[in-house]
Amino acid sequence: MTYLVNVLYIVAFALFILGLSGLTGPKTAVRGNWIAATGMGIAVVATLIAVRNTAAINWILIIAGLAIGVVLGVPPAKKTKMTAMPQLVALFNGVGGGTVALIAWAEFIETDGFSHFRPDQQPTVALVVGSLFAAIVGSVSFWGSLVAFLKLQESIPKNVEKGLIRSAKLFQAANIALLIVAVGVAVYIGLNAAPGNETSGWWIVAVLVAAGVMGLFVVFPIGGADMPVVISLLNALTGLSAAAAGLALNNTAMIVAGMIVGASGSILTNLMAVAMNRSIPAIVFGSFGGDSAAAAGPGGEQGTVKATSAADAAIQMAYANQVIVVPGYGLAVAQAQHAVKEMGDMLESKGVEVKYAIHPVAGRMPGHMNVLLAEADVEYDAMKEMDDINGEFNRTDVTLVIGANDVTNPAARNDPSSPIHGMPILNVDQSKSVIVLKRSMSSGYAGIDNPLFFAGQTSMLFGDAKKSVTEVIEELKAL
Ligand code: NDP
Repeated sequence: MTYLVNVLYIVAFALFILGLSGLTGPKTAVRGNWIAATGMGIAVVATLIAVRNTAAINWILIIAGLAIGVVLGVPPAKKTKMTAMPQLVALFNGVGGGTVALIAWAEFIETDGFSHFRPDQQPTVALVVGSLFAAIVGSVSFWGSLVAFLKLQESIPKNVEKGLIRSAKLFQAANIALLIVAVGVAVYIGLNAAPGNETSGWWIVAVLVAAGVMGLFVVFPIGGADMPVVISLLNALTGLSAAAAGLALNNTAMIVAGMIVGASGSILTNLMAVAMNRSIPAIVFGSFGGDSAAAAGPGGEQGTVKATSAADAAIQMAYANQVIVVPGYGLAVAQAQHAVKEMGDMLESKGVEVKYAIHPVAGRMPGHMNVLLAEADVEYDAMKEMDDINGEFNRTDVTLVIGANDVTNPAARNDPSSPIHGMPILNVDQSKSVIVLKRSMSSGYAGIDNPLFFAGQTSMLFGDAKKSVTEVIEELKAL
């Protein structure tokens, strides 16, 4: 049976890696997900086979756990709208971290503070250090992800969120103290871990609470522009904590799956931080985005706003040499991707070159815009990453901003007092003419005004993005 279990694990790991490679492109992502999920199913079966004769195994609890997981997990995953996917992912990620923290707690209780062991356990460094690491990181990840969920859901009132961001310094100081407490108590537990040497259960509770409060405090003051990196970081932490719990439980599947999530999440975190011109410590121990000296309020004292019509937008674009489309979160809300593709095709049939500029944090999850545009069959070659397209805006006749806001905000480049100063943006303001499709003058996720909307070459086409693009298509047909 050990042989069978090992073979099943190897098959599962191969499927994880195959699945992950499928996630590198929108076309293969769905298949990749299924492959990885099949791998996880095989790993679960192999683990159940491996532990079937263990004295402590309780099949009723295991079946009940699986049933509850399916009932709680499947309906929301099926019903959730694509625009709410980021918060669902944050929640699922948090659940992973929370599970790992509970495993660590259970291991502590079962061994009375690592003082006696089951026959299959040894008082090894892996068990003790793995459990303690899992308790801290899993707890940070659980509570941090809950706050991320609330922020993405926009359930935290804006004025409360601004207050939290303003209190960043306080949270930073508290976090240093909490980190010292969590690690200090964990070291104390670790040093006392010896056969016959019981440690009170309150110590591990102290570790879990200190780490949990730290998770809350790390994410509370994170401004809009830093959220993508933090979400990716929390994801990586969940993976690493699962790997640590795998070490503690001596479960190869958990170690491998956790390391894959931890490693890929860390790489993504680093890539996003580099793209945002930020260092990870600066994000965790500082914040940017959210409160704004530049925020004069909707339509504030920044100048006048020019409104335009679908007919005028259609004429401008039809007679342009090049049009750059800049999609943002509003494109996802409006589900305008198919209409945008149709409009792009019509413009190309009129001899206009159409390109799509993708900012690394446009939307609400990494690759959000790529996925939407790929769904509408926009050619990959036409989708340009920020660094590749930024040099082209000053040679572009018309830039059509569709439901994007923060990723086009020139204050990030020009205004040192702006809370998002330093964040790389798409240089939309350098093109000859800019048409912005959005419903109102309200701000984007970072909660700050955008001077682009008040610039001389910008005109606003107010309305739902899908409705506006459909109207532009009708006007193009009439030309
Ligand atoms: P923003 O959130 O800055 O702006 C989106 C704009 O879309 C809003 O100003 C809104 O204006 C408009 N909008 C909403 N619905 C519609 C609609 N139906 N039709 C037309 N317009 C609409 O989006 P960006 O993509 O520019 O920037 C992403 C932001 O999200 C960044 O701050 C980023 O840091 C953050 N973020 C990104 C994550 C990621 O991984 N990509 C994760 C978490 C946060 P109006 O209401 O007036 O229509």
